[in-house]
This record gives sequence, structure tokens and C-alpha cells, in this order.
Amino acid sequence: MARNSLLSRLRKAWSIGDQLQDVKDISINDLPAELEDYPKLQIKHSTYIPERWLHHKRSHTSWICLHGCMVVKLNPHNHKQGSFWVCSKKCDMVYAAKATSSTSTHLNKIHILFKKEDD
Ligand SMILES: [Zn+2]
Repeated sequence: MARNSLLSRLRKAWSIGDQLQDVKDISINDLPAELEDYPKLQIKHSTYIPERWLHHKRSHTSWICLHGCMVVKLNPHNHKQGSFWVCSKKCDMVYAAKATSSTSTHLNKIHILFKKEDD
């Protein structure tokens, strides 16, 4: 899909699930040159971008990434405010990336999802 339609679709998306679905389709090569021009995720009045847009070579292989997206919070000046994990199951939950046990507990209790042996 053409970049412009993807970017405009993102601005219209409301739910976190829809937003995550849309950014999944945007490759690093489609992004504007400047961070301030990147399409942003709006989650609970805060602004985030997918972490993979910043750390091109770093990949999270943890099982929690199967059920959510690693994002970086930005302040209004586009300064990075740390990494977070956003649940992709339309429940609007955001956890600090370091809080993997909270994230696991959330997936276990709310979505009945568990780490498999080979994850
Ligand atoms: Zn959830």
C-alpha cells in the first residue's frame, strides 16, 4: 500500500489495536526523515512510536512480543521517555518494558495466554 494512504489511515485510527495494526505495515523505509514527522501512536493521552523504528537491528524475541508491541514514549518535544509494551488485544494496557513479570501476569490472567516451552 502506498505510504501516504497508510500514514493518513493511521491518523484516523482510534483503538490501540487498530493503530498497532497500521504501524505494522509501515516499514522503516517508508518513514519521514525526521522523528517529529513520524506517524505517532496515541495511547491514553501519551505519544509513542514503535521501538523497531528506532533500533533497526534490535529485535525482541520474547513471547510477550507475540501479543503486543514494544514502543518508545515521546514527550511533546519528541524526546524519548523510555520503552513500554502495549497489549495488542484491545484492552488498552501499557506496561514499562522492564516490567516483564507484570506483562506476563496480564497476559496470563486477562487473556489466558502463557509462555510456551519454545518461545
Ligand atoms: Zn491485554
